[in-house]
This record gives sequence, C-alpha cells and structure tokens, in this order.
Amino acid sequence: MRRCVCPGSFDPVTNGHLDVIERAAGLFDEVVVAVLVNPAKQSMFSVDDRMAMLTEVIQHLPNVTVEGFQGLLVDFCRQRDIPAVVKGLRAVTDFDYELQMAQMNRRLSALETLFVAANPDYSYLSSRRAREGAINGGDVSGLVPDRVLARLGARLEGDS
Ligand code: ADP
Repeated sequence: MRRCVCPGSFDPVTNGHLDVIERAAGLFDEVVVAVLVNPAKQSMFSVDDRMAMLTEVIQHLPNVTVEGFQGLLVDFCRQRDIPAVVKGLRAVTDFDYELQMAQMNRRLSALETLFVAANPDYSYLSSRRAREGAINGGDVSGLVPDRVLARLGARLEGDS
C-alpha cells in the first residue's frame, strides 16, 4: 500500500490545493490531507471549518482522507506509516522554503518529499490571495471550489 500526505494550512482550500491532491490520489493508493493546527497563527477559518470544506471537496476521491495535525509532520507520518509527502511547487519563491523543509524532514526521519509542478492555471494562487481577493470584493470564482466560494461569501456577509 503506497501512502502519502499532503500537508498545509488550507485556510481555505483552493483549486490549486485540490489539483495537487487529485494528482497525488492518482499516484498513491492512499492520500491523507493533513491540516496544520497552529494556535499561534491567526486564521480566517477554524480548523474544523477548514477540515469540513476539505472533506466536502474531496468527495469524488475515495482514496483521500482528511486529518488535523499538530507538531512535527514527521511524527504524524511515522505514527501512520506514511513514507512520503507530496507538495506543489508554484514558483522559485516556494523553492527555498520547500527545499529546506524537505531536507529537514529527511534528516529527522527519512521522510521523502515529492514535488509536483503547479498547474499553470493556479501557479499564482495561495489561500491568502483567495482570501484577500474575496475580502476586498473580488470575484474569486474558479479559484476556489464552489462550496468554498459559498462559505467565503457567507462568512463575509456575517462579518459585515
Ligand atoms: P498557501 O500557500 O496556499 O497558504 P498552504 O500552506 O495551505 O498554502 O499550502 C500547502 C501546500 O500546498 C503548499 O506548500 C504548496 O505545496 C501547495 N500549494 C498551495 N497552493 C498551491 C497552488 N496554487 N498550486 C500548487 N500547489 C499549491
């Protein structure tokens, strides 16, 4: 059984994330999407909301599950016998950070990291860009899944 993890904050999940998750699901028998629980980092959506949105948008992928994690990704993977991380690389700006993280994870526990080249349609897209676009009244349809778009709208209406 080949397993991998796709980690991130997913605040909220975007079509760029979903593209990486779908591609990982095509390459591995099982994919665990691991949502980082970081109380020190201010987020727009709670961990429960982020996990609920992810769970909704991966319904078409039977070999994908969603879990929360705190602490080191290497410990999360060791506990579940997951040998590999799959991440998307958007641009050189991702590269420095991702390379260091991959090398650190390999040093800590031989966890391998595999990079997939971002879909050019989404290579400029981050959760932050989607959030900022929506908060400032921009149309972010096509950048986040429709269910996420609806939640962003509801959330912003609630805030106004
Ligand atoms: P974001 O940068 O969107 O806030 P996360 O921390 O949630 O991201 O992202 C987790 C991982 O998802 C990133 O390290 C990156 O590998 C991947 N990722 C995020 N957005 C994209 C995208 N648009 N295309 C490809 N991969 C992406």
